[in-house]
This record gives sequence, structure tokens and C-alpha cells, in this order.
Amino acid sequence: MIDSHCHLADHMFAHDLDAVLLRAEEHGIEAMVTIADTLTEAEECIRIAEQHSHIFAAVGVHPHHAKDWDAGDAERLQRLINSSSKVKAVGEIGLDYHYDHSPRDVQQEVFRVQLHLAKELRMPAVVHCRKAIADVRDIIAQVQPQALVIHCCTERWEDVAPLVERGYMLGFTGIATYSRSEDIRACIRACPLERMMIETDAPYLVPQSRRGQRNEPAFVLDVAELIAETKGISLAEVDAQTTRNTLEFYRLV
Ligand SMILES: [Zn+2]
Ligand SMILES: [Zn+2]
Repeated sequence: MIDSHCHLADHMFAHDLDAVLLRAEEHGIEAMVTIADTLTEAEECIRIAEQHSHIFAAVGVHPHHAKDWDAGDAERLQRLINSSSKVKAVGEIGLDYHYDHSPRDVQQEVFRVQLHLAKELRMPAVVHCRKAIADVRDIIAQVQPQALVIHCCTERWEDVAPLVERGYMLGFTGIATYSRSEDIRACIRACPLERMMIETDAPYLVPQSRRGQRNEPAFVLDVAELIAETKGISLAEVDAQTTRNTLEFYRLV
């Protein structure tokens, strides 16, 4: 089982990352992809990945921080990507119209630039999308990257089906376990298992059964169980297929 999206460089893991990684190992989590929100955090993600053979990194600027993007950042991002073979994707990048921490036109421009870079470098992109699916789809259609995942997918199936039909992936988190998340479970039912990855987005979005705790990679098991239950298939099948999907998507083998 792989946690395809977590934030190990987050300050919430600063004090006990070794214990977190040990628990992940005990729960059979064989690999993790640690995702950056800023270029400074990207350096930390790469450092963590360099220290552990089973941890890989994605580097990019989150839409929340798009307002801090400046002229030299595209070059800085490219340098970071080239600095380590442990960097496997550009992310997370995208649009967040729920919080609107950055102006929307700035978010769109910074998303477009980074998505182009991913395409140019033939790397997969990790896309964050909140209340912005129409614009996310438009920018993807303009740029046409080779591979991407809509991570922490909370969209209705009809809104993401065109992306899945084009071969793109959906990532699901512990949000899918909340009682109010019937739309997400409907999306899980409709999406082919071959197009799905599982993730925690830790330290955020802890699954229902762990409410009140900090989220961590070991809890990705809850997401796999939810998918098995929702699709009426075995946990072993979910584990095997999502692991295969993630290895292929990030080219970890
Ligand atoms: Zn995100
Ligand atoms: Zn994330």
C-alpha cells in the first residue's frame, strides 16, 4: 500500500517524523510521496526523500501561495526538479476558490506555468482543485499534460469523468469516510479502480474513525477500506491495483 500524497515536511511532523514513518512501516505502507506547498518546503521534501529509499517527492507551489510567485520561481522550480532523482512530480499546483488566499487570475497563471513545466519535463502533475473544477478543466485542456492526478477529489463524478476518460487519475482521501461525503462515494463507485490512487493528505483530513487525531500515512488503510466497501470488492484488490497505479503514475519503479 502506498500513501500517494502526504506532507511530511509539514511543521506538524517536525518533532516525531521518525515515529510516524515507523508506524507507517508497521502498517504495511511500502512507499510515500511527500508533496510541497511552497518552494522552500520543496527543499525540505527533497531532503526527507533523499534520506529514505521509500519516500519520493513532488515539488511545486500550492494555489494558496500563488500570490508569492515571482519571476525567478519557474527557474528555481526547474532547478529543484533537476537536483534530485527522488523528485517524481510537479505539485501540488492548481486552483482553490474556496479559500481564495491568492487572487484567482494569479492562481490561474501560476497553475498554467507549472503545468506547462510538468508537460515540458514529461513529469506527472499533482493538481489541487477546490470549487474550481470548470477552470481546472479549461487549463488542463489548454496545456494537455501527459499525466496528472486530481488529488483529494471531492468533485461529482460527472464533473471529473471527462478527465478520467482522457486517462487522468483521481486521488481519494479520508474525506470520503465522512458521513456527509455521499457524493464522493458515488464518484468512487463510478470511477474505474485503474484510475484511482489512495492518499492521506496528512497531517490534514484525518479519516472519520480517527477524528481528533493528527492524520498520518499509516491511516491510508482507512481510505483503502472505504473504497473496498463502497465498490463491493476486496481490500486486497484495492491494495494491489492502487499500488500498481501509483507506481506507474509516479514512475517509482
Ligand atoms: Zn491539496
Ligand atoms: Zn496536499
